[in-house]
Amino acid sequence: MDKNLIKKDEYIKQDIISLLKLSDKAAIKELYEHADQVKEDYMGKIIHVRAILEFSNHCCRNCLYCGIRKSNEKIKRYRIEPDEIIKYALKAEDLGFKTLILQSGEDYYYTAEMLEKIIRTIKNNTSLKLTLSIGERTWIEYEKLKLAGTDRFLLKHETSDPLLYRQLHPDMKYSNRIKCLRDLKSLGYQTGSGIMVGLPGQTLESIANDILLFKTLDIDMIGIGPYIPHPDTPLASKFERSGGYFIPAIGHFDLEELIYKVIAITRIVTKKTHLPATTGFNVLSDNDIREKALQRGANVIMLNITDSDLREFYEIYPAKKELAAKNAETLQGLAEKHKDFQFL
Ligand code: SAH
Repeated sequence: MDKNLIKKDEYIKQDIISLLKLSDKAAIKELYEHADQVKEDYMGKIIHVRAILEFSNHCCRNCLYCGIRKSNEKIKRYRIEPDEIIKYALKAEDLGFKTLILQSGEDYYYTAEMLEKIIRTIKNNTSLKLTLSIGERTWIEYEKLKLAGTDRFLLKHETSDPLLYRQLHPDMKYSNRIKCLRDLKSLGYQTGSGIMVGLPGQTLESIANDILLFKTLDIDMIGIGPYIPHPDTPLASKFERSGGYFIPAIGHFDLEELIYKVIAITRIVTKKTHLPATTGFNVLSDNDIREKALQRGANVIMLNITDSDLREFYEIYPAKKELAAKNAETLQGLAEKHKDFQFL
C-alpha cells in the first residue's frame, strides 16, 4: 500500500476508495490514529454532548428503510404539543445541555408558524443552541425558522447515488434534497448532512462520492450511521445478515469496521466538522462501538431526552428501545468516566 495515502492534504475519489478497501491491520490502525489526531488538531479533545428530543413520529414520507415511514401501520403514532416541547427544552437546560436537537418525521402538522413560535419561546427563555431535523421545507419556511433563532439544521442526504436514492425514496427527489442543503447553507445555518452505511445496493464508490460531497457542499455536521434493517419495512427482506454482511456491489464485509473507516476517512477529508457517534452504532454489536468511534474521528454524542414511554415508538430501526435505557445510564456516568465530555 502507498504509505502516503493516509496522510494527504487533498484526497481524490480513488484515494478514498483505496482507504475504504484497506485490509492490512497495521494500515487500518494508522488510519484511525491519524483521524484521531486530525480531530484533535481541528476540533480539540472535547467531546460535545448534545440532547435530542424526538417530538413526532408522524411522517408523510415512505422511505423504504425507515420504521416510521407513512405506510407502517404497526407503530403507534405520537406528537408532542408545542407547550410540552418548550417544557422539554427547559428541562434540557436544567440538565446542563447547551444544545437541543428537535427531530421528527416529516410532519406538516407543525406549520412553520407553529415551529417559529416554539423556537422563539425557547430562545427567549433559555440560552440553548437549537438544531432542527424535520425534513424538507421550502426556502421561505427555512428562512422563517432561521429568523426565529434556529442555529443548526440536520438533513442527511442518505446516499449520493441518484439511482439508489430514487429506489429508496419513492416520493422524494435527490435534487431537492441537495437543493435544501444548499438553501440551508445560504441562509446561514450550521448545516448537517449524513449517510447510512451498509444499504443494499450501496457501493464503495458511492460512499467515496458521499464523503467528497460533504466537502463540496461545505457541510458542518456529518451523521454517519449503520443501516439497520427494520422488519416492518420493505427493505428488510432484501437484507442478508447471516455470516456477516453481504452486498453484491461490495461483497462480504464487516459493517463495524466499514463504519469506523467511513468516519475516520470523513474526518481526514473534511477536517473541521462535527461528527456524531450515533446511537445506531450500539445496535451492531455488544462492543461499545460509540466509544470506539469517538477515538476514530467522531467528536459528538447525542443523548435522547424524550420520555421513555414515547421513545419506543420512534423506532426508525429496531432495538432503539433497549438503547433508550442505556442512554439514561450514559448521562449519569458521563462526567466521571470522561474528562473530555462537555455539554456544548
Ligand atoms: N425526517 C427527518 C429525520 C428523521 S429520521 C429527515 O428527513 O431528515 C433520522 C434519520 O434516521 C434519517 O436521516 C436516517 O438516516 C435514519 N434512519 C432511518 N431509518 C433507518 C434505518 N433503518 N437504519 C439506520 N438509520 C435509519
